[in-house]
Amino acid sequence: MTVRNLFLLPGDGIGPEAMAEVRKIIAYLNEAKGTGFVLDEGLVGGVAYDAHGSAVSEEDMAKALAADAVLFGAVGGPKWDAVPYEVRPEAGLLRLRKDLKLFANLRPAICYPALAAASSLKPELVEGLDILIVRELTGGVYFGEPKEIIDLGNGQKRGIDTQVYDTYEIERIAGVAFELARTRQNRVCSMEKRNVMKSGVLWNQVVTETHKAKYSDVQLEHMLADAGGMQLVRQPKQFDVIVTDNLFGDMLSDVAAMLTGSLGMLPSASLGAPDAKTGKRKALYEPVHGSAPDIAGKGIANPIAMIASFAMCLRYSFNLVTEADNLEKAIANVLDKGIRTGDIMAEGCKQVGTVEMGEAILAEFKAISA
Ligand code: NAD
Repeated sequence: MTVRNLFLLPGDGIGPEAMAEVRKIIAYLNEAKGTGFVLDEGLVGGVAYDAHGSAVSEEDMAKALAADAVLFGAVGGPKWDAVPYEVRPEAGLLRLRKDLKLFANLRPAICYPALAAASSLKPELVEGLDILIVRELTGGVYFGEPKEIIDLGNGQKRGIDTQVYDTYEIERIAGVAFELARTRQNRVCSMEKRNVMKSGVLWNQVVTETHKAKYSDVQLEHMLADAGGMQLVRQPKQFDVIVTDNLFGDMLSDVAAMLTGSLGMLPSASLGAPDAKTGKRKALYEPVHGSAPDIAGKGIANPIAMIASFAMCLRYSFNLVTEADNLEKAIANVLDKGIRTGDIMAEGCKQVGTVEMGEAILAEFKAISA
């Protein structure tokens, strides 16, 4: 039987509450579909600091590196605001991203029809929206050197960040975007600022060459990133896959995310390079939201972002496409029925807690999968 190793890092705050609902879905899949998921669980963030003084232990890092995929909840909270910088909760997530070499961040922006009215845009602009932003995660201006503030000695200081990209970094992120587009509407829009940035000129060239060499079956368009931001709020449904660098991706994915409503709805995936022997990519799946200390422990957190992150895991790490589709459909059906957690509550709907929402999705998933 296929064995699929999943390493769970629920973390802090609402992380464990949301992860508990994913566990139930995994148990069902193993029992009814023989998916062979083998689970192990570790500590990350504040709970890891409390247990052993670091944001993630070496033992748990080794398990994350060995697993087929990592499911991550959330980290942080006021309890750990004063801990030393290098062991702050977020350091656990950054270490995972770095050691697993997760260079591609995937953020879908899907607007479930039932939530179209909750968007800040007109419902007809966002209803049925399904775009995927592929953001380069380990390069660009967030990591480029020099990165410093220097004293100019005349009462002035100079802050310097360096935007830098090498060919291979652009090639590999473009490759991820083209490959994902083939599983969707087969369209990629690459965004940069080639009009004012040399790294943008190179980005544009390398994406064009990569497309020509390996992915000419995919439709490619280029757009300046500022125009892209404008188009995202003007007519978001024109896009399928957007590929862009670390800085623009950070901003554009937040803009796209808010088209679809609440933070509690947004999943994400971060992928590394394929293993030379097995062809499998290292991967970490996590909701976009944080640990939500204001509602932690109250049983009211929306588990959908965590469950939808697991759906991405089924699709991208295990190629269980039918199961992923069914799980996403189960979420849509539950929303259609008017079942809502507090963060997405609307008039005439039924407000439920984390467990009830998780169980409603599981029941719908079972009905669809039967
Ligand atoms: P947050 O995402 O935790 O919460 C922002 C607001 O959205 C809160 O009002 C919260 O109640 C609400 N919210 C978030 N997720 C929700 C859900 N699933 N259901 C219902 N409501 C939800 O962001 P924040 O308040 O800025 O940060 C809180 C802590 O989380 C901080 O310590 C921060 O550093 C950390 N954080 C962690 C991550 C991560 O683990 N990846 C990401 C962002 C923030």
